[in-house]
Amino acid sequence: MTIKCDKCNKDAIIYQKYSGMHLCRKHFTEDVERKIKLTIRKHYSIKRNETIAVGLSGGKDSSTTLHILHKIFGMRPDIRLVGISIDEGIEGYRPQTIESAKELTEELGIELMVRSFREEYGKTMDDIAPMQREKGACSYCGVLRKSLLNKTALQIGATRLAIGHNLDDEAQTVLLNHLKGDVSRLVRMAPPKELEGLVLRMKPLRQIPEKEIALYAYLHDLPLGFGGCPYAHEAMRKEIRTLLNDFEVRHPGTKYALLSGFDKISGILGKEFPQEGLSNCRVCGQACTGEICQACKLLGRIQ
Ligand code: SF4
Repeated sequence: MTIKCDKCNKDAIIYQKYSGMHLCRKHFTEDVERKIKLTIRKHYSIKRNETIAVGLSGGKDSSTTLHILHKIFGMRPDIRLVGISIDEGIEGYRPQTIESAKELTEELGIELMVRSFREEYGKTMDDIAPMQREKGACSYCGVLRKSLLNKTALQIGATRLAIGHNLDDEAQTVLLNHLKGDVSRLVRMAPPKELEGLVLRMKPLRQIPEKEIALYAYLHDLPLGFGGCPYAHEAMRKEIRTLLNDFEVRHPGTKYALLSGFDKISGILGKEFPQEGLSNCRVCGQACTGEICQACKLLGRIQ
């Protein structure tokens, strides 16, 4: 016997344990898009004449972000959407995802900028990874990519930088920062304030579980990603992912609870622990706290 959608009589394709709802394709799609619109309205008020840059890796999360932003803002002549793909130089992994990003932007009629670590830093992740046994490749890759994304977004005059972090990523990061006692990173997770030199970040998918993004991407013929990055081994995050997935099975709604609890206290945290003011990095000129930005510090270690 097939299970029916709780909103109509069609066959259900998903059971949301946390909401107790069975949903058909149409109502599942509506549910995902409604939550994303709500997140944008609540956390990121988009004004007239904005340019939204979308960090587009070509995987399911960033492709879904671009697809939905195009659905919401594509008809607005005053809103410009631009994809930015960063090629970190990871053979056997990144070239395929960049190809997907090109296909998707072409299909949607959206401009795509591709920037590479090789052009910008003179080194690829394939060069850097073997040198970095101690800190792990991801610590380098994440910081350098974030810096290049921000720089490119600034160059094209973007007022927002959208990234594809989903509910799982956000809940993991909240817990990870608590476990590390890293209050300043927790504060930085709060909805962003205007800071000169930094493009405002937005995370439209922060209320959507990763599994639902995968299903949405599959149903809408969006890229799903190509296997995993060969350097992915952030041990502590992996443990937290397993722990949270386990909790979610036994206590549905755990990930939502973790994020909404954080949202409730983030304002107080911001007041108690105000972010340091920004200055310009002495080496590259990008906005940062302190004299030298994280990206230049890391690059200094491997030069
Ligand atoms: Fe970069 Fe790590 Fe992501 Fe690979 S898994 S792309 S090394 S951050």
